[in-house]
Amino acid sequence: MAEQRVFPLSCKVQHYAWGKLGSDSEVASLLASSDPLAQIEEDKPYAELWMGTHPRGDAVILDNRIVQKTLGQWIADNPTCLGSKVRDAFQSQLPFLFKVLSVNTALSIQAHPNKELAEKLHAQAPEHYPDANHKPELAIALTPFQGLCGFRPVQEIVEFLQKVPEFRALIGNVAAEQLERSMGDDPHAMASALRICFTSMMKSEKKVFVEQLNQLVKRISQEVATGGDVAASNGELLLQLHTQYPGDIGCFAIYFLNLVKLQPGEAMFLEANEPHAYLNGDCVECMACSDNTVRAGLTPKFIDVLTLCEMLNYTPAPSSAKLFTPVQDRLDPCVFTYNPPVPDFTVMKIEVPASAKPYTVSALDSASILLVVQGEATGPSTASHSEIALRRGVVLFIAANESVSLQLTSSGSLLMFRACCLL
Ligand SMILES: [Zn+2]
Repeated sequence: MAEQRVFPLSCKVQHYAWGKLGSDSEVASLLASSDPLAQIEEDKPYAELWMGTHPRGDAVILDNRIVQKTLGQWIADNPTCLGSKVRDAFQSQLPFLFKVLSVNTALSIQAHPNKELAEKLHAQAPEHYPDANHKPELAIALTPFQGLCGFRPVQEIVEFLQKVPEFRALIGNVAAEQLERSMGDDPHAMASALRICFTSMMKSEKKVFVEQLNQLVKRISQEVATGGDVAASNGELLLQLHTQYPGDIGCFAIYFLNLVKLQPGEAMFLEANEPHAYLNGDCVECMACSDNTVRAGLTPKFIDVLTLCEMLNYTPAPSSAKLFTPVQDRLDPCVFTYNPPVPDFTVMKIEVPASAKPYTVSALDSASILLVVQGEATGPSTASHSEIALRRGVVLFIAANESVSLQLTSSGSLLMFRACCLL
């Protein structure tokens, strides 16, 4: 019997508390569409779908010719499926984890270490930093998506310091004035003043910041109640975060970090040391295989303020600079490639118009994972796979150097995302 090299996967759902509930969640909706037997519980959060080999959510192979194996076990037995370059570079492991996220309430303010710092943190505190790898992340919106990402231009932060007295009180006048004076100075001086301000806020005593936060929330609530404009103090977002995380220092982070709004297909790349927090919306996300997150607010989990303040990239930039633009493939105009500057992963958006009846998912020198978001198609059975039926929510594993020919069967277009490793 020929070896199966393309097959569907059953992927692990994570029910974290911040996820969207029931069928509002893209994760639940994809699951329900791919598996008619799936029962969606409307009061349960469906936060993440994990498409990969991570030990806490190794995908199960749905192919009756491969008996009862997870993807991780199968790759261990068939490492050539990774492609020779990937196999050599990543010790016979799939180098990325591909996910769908459905965010209802904000995720923590966080950053991920580079490799050097990850090794150090893992050696010092393996209970908090479970591996020695970096964790760059790429998020591509499926629905309108909001997040905080990177430090705002200093001009914007200074405006908040002038218009939001509670924020200024927390930073302290000395640090605030230093930041004001640094405007127009060399980038190094601005970054250094920014570091002092942010660190001073993050290190303030709980009693102090809770008092300032309560005052601010009270003032903005009164302004809202009397029909006032709270845009100058970013009031709407502040109230929203405070409802989710009352008394949390992370609420003040909105004055330091850019609010990034992504439309479907738009992306942001979170390189090492970039402060960020997802706020709401659905996205596909790809990351290097790691669990290393340094958190400092908007979370009940372990927080490590000192490490976070030390590691961050304090280069200010406008939110528009945080968009990560894909490149349309010159040979196949259906493919848009998001290729971040890390070796671990690349994501492709594949949008096949209904008019293009036959379509071939091209062979790559890398194993890949394909998620169908929209549309229907079938593929004939070949030496390397049984007949393929694609519809919304189906996830396929495709071994290196395998192509998949498809016939579109619905009247609509086909939208897929494919994660791979292009070394
Ligand atoms: Zn992150």
